[in-house]
Amino acid sequence: MSHDLVISNGFLVDGSGTPGRHADIAVDGDIITAVEPAGSITAGTRTVDADGRLVTPGFVDVHTHYDAQVSWDPWVTPSSWHGVTTVVMGNCGVGFAPARPDQHDWLIQLMEGVEDIPGSALTEGITWGWESFPEYLDRLAEMPRVLDVGAQIGHGPLRAYVMGERSMDDGPASNDDISAMAALVEEALRAGAFGFSTSRTPLHRAKDGELVPGTNADERELLGIGAAIRRVGRGVFQFAPDHAYVPVKEWPWMRRLAALTGQPVSVNVNQPDSAPHVWREVMGLLDQAHQDGLPIFAQVAGRTIGILYCLQGSVHPLLFHPAYQEIAHLPLA
Ligand SMILES: [Zn+2]
Repeated sequence: MSHDLVISNGFLVDGSGTPGRHADIAVDGDIITAVEPAGSITAGTRTVDADGRLVTPGFVDVHTHYDAQVSWDPWVTPSSWHGVTTVVMGNCGVGFAPARPDQHDWLIQLMEGVEDIPGSALTEGITWGWESFPEYLDRLAEMPRVLDVGAQIGHGPLRAYVMGERSMDDGPASNDDISAMAALVEEALRAGAFGFSTSRTPLHRAKDGELVPGTNADERELLGIGAAIRRVGRGVFQFAPDHAYVPVKEWPWMRRLAALTGQPVSVNVNQPDSAPHVWREVMGLLDQAHQDGLPIFAQVAGRTIGILYCLQGSVHPLLFHPAYQEIAHLPLA
C-alpha cells in the first residue's frame, strides 16, 4: 500500500515520554497511519528523508509576543523554523487591541519597552485596520499562515482604551472603568480570545519609562475583570509577576480569582540568579493550590530568556558601569 506521505529515517521523539528512536512515519490524508522502525516503510507518494533530523509533534508555545508580527508575517519566524505549530500571544499585559487610532504610537512604544522589539519594525510593519479586539481577530483570520495563532487581550491596551491618560496613574480604576474593561474582555473572549493577561513586574516598562497600565491594579479591578471570564465560562488569566521574588503578595488574589472563575490562572515561574530559590517556593504554592482544587498553573521557560543587547535597548553590557552612566543621557550620534 502506498501512503500519501512517508517521513523516513528520522529520530522520532513522540512526546509520550518513551525514549527517542529511529522510525518511519506514514501519513494518509491528515492522519498518521503507521509508525514503524526505520527502513520498514518505503512506499510513499511523497517521501521526506529525515535522516539526521528530529521528528516530533508540533510544539505549542504558550508564551510569545507575536501580536504585531502576525499582522504581516505568514511564516511567524523564527518559531515556525523550530517546529512550533501553535503560538499563544498577548502575554504579560501588552498587545495591540483594542486600539484607538490616536493610541497606535503609544502602544508601539509600550511593546518596544516591555519586549525590546524595535519600534521602527513595528511602525513599518503593522498595517492596523482594526480598533476593537474582535476586529483584530478578523484581520488576523484573513491571512493564511503556516502555524496556528491564539490571542489574549492585554491589560495595557485595554486599560488605555477605557481610561485614556488616567490608565497610567497610580490611582484605582473606578467602578465604571472596571465594568467597561470587563465588558470588553467578555466581548474579546466571545470573539475567540484565549484569555486576558496583565503585568505585575516593575521590570516591564514602556519606552518612556512608564509601567504597563494595570501593573499596580488592585484586587477589585483584577477580580472585576475575572468576572468576565466567569460569565463566559472560558479563558485563561495570565500574568508576569515580579521576577526576583516569590509572588507571595499576589497569591491571595490569585487564589480568589481562580475560585471565582474556575478557569486557569497562569503565572510565569522565574529563577533569577539573585534569588535561585524562588521557583521552589512557587512550586510549593502551586501544589497547595491544586490540593485545594484551584486551577493555578506555572509557565516554565524551556531555556533562559534571551535579550537583544544594544545601546538603544533597555539592557546592555555597559548599563551598570558608572563611567557609562555619566554619559548615558547624551545622544548616540
Ligand atoms: Zn511575556
